[in-house]
Amino acid sequence: MSSLFSTWPATRAAGLARLDGFLPHAGRAYAARRNHAVVAPTVSGLSPYLRRRMVTEREVLASVLARHGETAAEKFIDEVFWRAHFKGRLEGQPEIWTRYQTALVQGQAALDRDPALARRYADAVAGRTGIDALDAWVGELEATGYLHNHARMWFASIWTHTLGLPWALGAAFMHARLLDGDPAANTLSWRWVVGLHTPGKTYLARADNIARYTEGRFQPKGLASDAPPLEEPPFAETWASAALDLTPPEGPVLLLITEEDLHPESLLPADAAVAAIQVVDAVEMQGRPRSDLVRAFTNEALDDVAARVRLIWPDRPVHRGPLDADTLAPAASAAGVSTVVTAYAPVGPTRERLDVLAPQLAARGVTIKRLARRYDALTWPHGRGGFFGLKKRIPRLLDQLDLRPNAQPTLL
Ligand SMILES: Cc1cc2nc3c(=O)[nH]c(=O)nc-3n(C[C@H](O)[C@H](O)[C@H](O)COP(=O)(O)OP(=O)(O)OC[C@H]3O[C@@H](n4cnc5c(N)ncnc54)[C@H](O)[C@@H]3O)c2cc1C
Repeated sequence: MSSLFSTWPATRAAGLARLDGFLPHAGRAYAARRNHAVVAPTVSGLSPYLRRRMVTEREVLASVLARHGETAAEKFIDEVFWRAHFKGRLEGQPEIWTRYQTALVQGQAALDRDPALARRYADAVAGRTGIDALDAWVGELEATGYLHNHARMWFASIWTHTLGLPWALGAAFMHARLLDGDPAANTLSWRWVVGLHTPGKTYLARADNIARYTEGRFQPKGLASDAPPLEEPPFAETWASAALDLTPPEGPVLLLITEEDLHPESLLPADAAVAAIQVVDAVEMQGRPRSDLVRAFTNEALDDVAARVRLIWPDRPVHRGPLDADTLAPAASAAGVSTVVTAYAPVGPTRERLDVLAPQLAARGVTIKRLARRYDALTWPHGRGGFFGLKKRIPRLLDQLDLRPNAQPTLL
C-alpha cells in the first residue's frame, strides 16, 4: 500500500465528489473502521478541502446527517467538530502558536548543539531510522501529502518518545508536507502527543497496536515503552474571546480571498456589492515553506476559486497577487472602494500578515473588514475546555446551525 488516496485534484468540485463518494461510509462503518490505517475508504480524505473551506463543515455535516442521521453518524460528526475544537482553542489561546515558534527555535538549537541528535533528526526526515513504519510514513507523506490519523499519532509518538526528537520540529516537518497542514489541528495534535494539550496525558504508540490497525503491514521494533509528559509554564492570557464580526458589508467592497476560506459564495450574501476581487497568493510560515506538493495544491485551489468567482460575479475584475499593501491599496482605489472584505483568518501565517497589513492599509484610507462565519462564532468558544464540553453541545449546535433535515432554526 502506498497511500489511501492516490489523487487530490484541488478543486471544489473534486472535494464535493469526494464527499459524495464517502457518504455511504460515514455512518456506522466509519465508527467501526476509522482507526484502521488501510486502503479501504475507512476515512473521508476531505481534510485538504475542509482546511481551506473549499468544502465547508456545514456542507459536510448536512450531507452526512441527511444520509445517516445523528446516531449512526455520531463518530464522524464528532471528528468534524474536533476540527472546530482545535481551531477554537488556538483562537482563544494564541500564545500556543507563539510558544510553538519558540519551541521550533529551541529544537533547531538543540540539533546544533548535539551532533547525535542532529544525526537522528537527519535519519528521521530522510526515512532511514530502521523503524519500518516511520520510514514508510515519511515516504508516504513526501509522496502524497497525506497520512491517516492513526499513522500521524504513531508518527508523532515515535518521533518524540522513541527517537527523543524535539516535538516542534516534527510538527513543522508534518505541517510543511500535509495537504491539510493546519496551524491549529497540527500543532495541537502534536502537543497532545507530548502531554501539553491535556497536561500530563501523553500518547504512546505500541507495536501491537500498529500491527493490528495496519492489519499486519508493520511490526515495528524497539519502540519506547513509556512517554513522560513535557511540561510548560501556565499561559499569560487565560482566554482571548475575539469579538467576531458577523455583519455583512453594506457598501461596495473589494473581496479579498485568502487560502483560509475558499468559499466566498457562502460567506457573503448573494446581493453583496462586490466591486472587484483579489485572490491572494498563499502566505508561508516564516522560514518554513511548505512542500512543492502543498504549494501546487494550494495554487490550484486558488485558481479554482478565481474561476468560480468569475462566474458568480461576472464582469467584476478578478486579480491574483501577493497579500501586501502595495497591491491592495491600488486595487481598492481602481475599484472605487475604501473597504476590503475578507473571511476572518484564524491564528496562523495569513492572520499574522493581515494584522501587519491592516494598519498599512488604514494609513492609505482602506479598511479591512474581517467577516466571520456563524459556524466559527458558535463553535470556537467550546475550544476552551476538553472536547467533551463541545461534544455534549453538538445536538444543540446542529439545531443552531440549522443543519438537521427539517430542523427549526433557533436563535443564537
Ligand atoms: C500529529 C497529528 C497531526 C495532525 N495534523 C493535522 C493537520 O495539519 N490538519 C488537519 O486537518 N488535521 C490534522 N490532524 C487530524 C487528523 O489526523 C486529520 O484531520 C485527518 O486524518 C484527515 O483525514 P480525513 O479527512 O480522511 O479524516 P476523517 O476521519 O474523514 O474526518 C473528517 C474530517 O474531520 C476532521 N478531523 C478528523 N479527525 C480530526 C482530528 N483528530 N483533529 C481535528 N480534526 C479532525 C478533519 O477536518 C477531517 O477532514 C492531525 C492529527 C495528528 C495526530
